[in-house]
Amino acid sequence: MSASPVSSVPAQEGGAHTTSPGGSIVIVGSGLAGYTLLKEIRKRDAAVPVTLVTADDGTFYSKPNLSNALAAGKAPAALAGAAAEKMAAEQRATLLTHTRVTGIDTARQRLDTDRGELGYARLVLALGADPFPHGLDGDGAEAVLTVNDLADYAVFRDAIAGKQRIAVLGGGLIGCEFANDLAQAGYAVDVVHLGDWPLERLLPAEAGQRLADSLASIGVRWHFGRTGRSVARRAAGFDVALDNGETLAADVVLSAIGLRPSTALAAGAGIATGRGIQVDSLLQASVPHVYALGDCAEVDGVNLPYVQPLMVQARALAATLTGTPTRVVYPAMPVMVKTPVHPVAVLPPKPGSIGGWQVTCGEEGVCALHVDADGSLQGFALTGAETAQRTRLVGELAA
Ligand SMILES: Cc1cc2nc3c(=O)[nH]c(=O)nc-3n(C[C@H](O)[C@H](O)[C@H](O)COP(=O)(O)OP(=O)(O)OC[C@H]3O[C@@H](n4cnc5c(N)ncnc54)[C@H](O)[C@@H]3O)c2cc1C
Repeated sequence: MSASPVSSVPAQEGGAHTTSPGGSIVIVGSGLAGYTLLKEIRKRDAAVPVTLVTADDGTFYSKPNLSNALAAGKAPAALAGAAAEKMAAEQRATLLTHTRVTGIDTARQRLDTDRGELGYARLVLALGADPFPHGLDGDGAEAVLTVNDLADYAVFRDAIAGKQRIAVLGGGLIGCEFANDLAQAGYAVDVVHLGDWPLERLLPAEAGQRLADSLASIGVRWHFGRTGRSVARRAAGFDVALDNGETLAADVVLSAIGLRPSTALAAGAGIATGRGIQVDSLLQASVPHVYALGDCAEVDGVNLPYVQPLMVQARALAATLTGTPTRVVYPAMPVMVKTPVHPVAVLPPKPGSIGGWQVTCGEEGVCALHVDADGSLQGFALTGAETAQRTRLVGELAA
């Protein structure tokens, strides 16, 4: 096989462009899903033309590092991996950076972008997820930050430099990880969370409470059962008004209330969407020649917005796109919550599982097993030192 021509369109260069579909695979998105797919395709086929289109600058980075970079002593620049040009050259792909796809004509197999039209033979949507709008009122609401990519994180780090008080809205996975990272770096952290304990959709109460207590032990102040109403500017910082009338003073407000799969582009093109872009186990969408993976995808009815599932998806889709149709088959994939003060490993039971938690609380952590009526393991939630059991339990589940 001969290598395909190497080309890239660097940031800001070039205007509108028009290409014909040819044999080109077009990937939209340069997050872990888009780039992992590109790499997996290249492992299998050095020649097939691939174009990767992305709204951002195409820098490769690992998103999970954003929520523990303070502890790791890393500035945003240190989290950036290869630049777009390097990725294009290494992976022998055409990269269109700072190019937003605005429409898909699935009949003509063409994309509208803000820099012109682009044809595709096969299209892969790796669009990620968007932060839930926080819906806060007040003259400080537009200053509330979210962190969902490296550029957001650079803005966040600038905002917290030299500041002290950070209000985090949301005590899910990302809120807890940022709370741990910020508190350990010496910030005063308030977390406002609607649930009665953190990660309440993944963890039973005892496990969530242990995590909450551990974070409190390094200074995190919890506001459970509460939600933010408005953010008002003050001479120094902001006042965050909660739904019970309480007010928190903060220098920076971070919204971590959750992400939702990016579906608008697909829905606008008549591609079936539900929670995410609906695809089957071949990652094929409801119209021919269109696929989806990563945070934006709902695979056989399930959206798994984590790194390990997207790796499995990328390997399967690369095989499919290079001539070997391959269905996604997930191994047991525990989610690790990066809260070093009290780590958590959780493998939720499959949706619709009928069973309950058996919880054992020890000095150093909590072991919660989700079992059915026969005592068969369906999932687990482990905290602290109990996380050491996860490999054994994954083996038990696999068996
Ligand atoms: C702070 C944080 C910590 C996390 N920690 C963990 C962890 O520890 N473990 C774990 O498993 N998971 C973790 N996750 C989740 C994990 O990072 C994501 O599942 C994963 O990075 C998603 O990758 P993606 O490529 O699907 O999406 P994204 O990385 O969001 O990439 C989407 C891409 O699509 C592009 N795009 C979107 N719309 C358009 C358009 N219209 N035109 C052109 N381009 C477009 C964007 O520019 C971007 O390049 C974390 C997430 C966050 C936010």
